[in-house]
Amino acid sequence: MTHTDDCIFCKIVKRQIPASVVFEDEHCMAFMDIYPVSRGHCLLIPKKHFVNLLDVDLDVVAHMARRLCELTRRVKAVLSPDGVLSAVANGEGAGQEVPHLHFHVIPRSKGDPFGFRFPPNYREKMADRSELDKLAKAIRGV
Ligand code: AMP
Ligand code: ZN
Repeated sequence: MTHTDDCIFCKIVKRQIPASVVFEDEHCMAFMDIYPVSRGHCLLIPKKHFVNLLDVDLDVVAHMARRLCELTRRVKAVLSPDGVLSAVANGEGAGQEVPHLHFHVIPRSKGDPFGFRFPPNYREKMADRSELDKLAKAIRGV
């Protein structure tokens, strides 16, 4: 038994549990989220088990990027929201609950109650340029 045997999204790929599939291809699958944050909330996953962007195969995720754009545009066309949030959580600390990579595609409307927002006063203080340059250098250098 491997860790993917008890992964809920691997089970969806293997058709062991039901899902409302939007589309699928050799590498990925899009389906409706079972606890939608808003009407039309979808998920896009790789068919192979990767935890998140920290371990995913780069060719797989490059392919998924195109399909993520497509899914986002389809959701926008069908639901006509004010906007669409396309997002991924990497790790529990970022809010990831299901440890199989998934992109959320969530229709958003002005004034909706969903909490993915920057804090109200975050623009009060601009960051220090030397600190930003230092961070950019550190991130570039890893
Ligand atoms: P996250 O918190 O980013 O890990 O999101 C996991 C998402 O998976 C949540 O939005 C859940 O509602 C969704 N989810 C969990 N189980 C299922 C399932 N069986 N079918 C569809 N969506 C699911
Ligand atoms: Zn999995």
